[in-house]
Amino acid sequence: MEKTLQYEGKAKKIYSISGKPDLYIQEFKDDATAFNGLKKDKISNKGIMNTEITTLIFNHLIANGIPTHFVEKISDNEMIVKKVDIIKVEVVCRNIAAGSLVKKFGFKEGFVLKHPIVEYYLKSDELGDPLFNEEHIYALGLANSEELNFIKSLTLKINELLKKYFAERKIRLVDFKLEFGKDVNGNIILADEISPDTCRFWDSETNEKMDKDRFRFDLGKVEDAYLEIRNRLSK
Ligand code: UDP
Repeated sequence: MEKTLQYEGKAKKIYSISGKPDLYIQEFKDDATAFNGLKKDKISNKGIMNTEITTLIFNHLIANGIPTHFVEKISDNEMIVKKVDIIKVEVVCRNIAAGSLVKKFGFKEGFVLKHPIVEYYLKSDELGDPLFNEEHIYALGLANSEELNFIKSLTLKINELLKKYFAERKIRLVDFKLEFGKDVNGNIILADEISPDTCRFWDSETNEKMDKDRFRFDLGKVEDAYLEIRNRLSK
């Protein structure tokens, strides 16, 4: 299988595959960045762990009717995915206050939200992914209202599925970020990854952080936390 690098991001590489125009290979790297690229390091085995974690979560979502780009895991740190045009909107869904909700809006960390919050951020490294709303998305032509309503309803459905899935594994799903894309037939499907890089996970009993916040805030035991998530999901 001959592959050609198409795109390299902060945590992943995307390759095209010769003779397979509708598919890509998504490779997970050990590189970790935070604060819009200001903090950089490697987390050993992160690529392998996030490949496994994303595979387990996407398989669970697919089994529950969520359309995704996932096709199959082909090595320790690579999976085949459907080729999509990524919609340049990062969709964040929150159940418990943390991160920017605390910093920007004064929520108390750990406050259980009365209702999940869905937020949109413009996917732009140069602009530092600013928070924006439906009107900006329509005005920029990134998605129309039918598409965005579909994305929002899928996000809330994914949230319900994952809250339960993680609760059964003694993990609180605090918040997470999703990306969607349009496949070759124009259908909107879930893309990217779902891993401790893109979610906040707290242990249900101790509230210990089990995600990239350990790297962001130098809490130590970063690799152990990713491994523990992998272990709880693969049981
Ligand atoms: N997130 C992400 N990529 C980003 C920004 C946020 O995966 O570029 C995830 C983050 O890991 C967390 C959720 O989205 O699970 C909400 O992040 P928040 O807005 O609190 O961002 P922070 O200020 O922590 O970057």
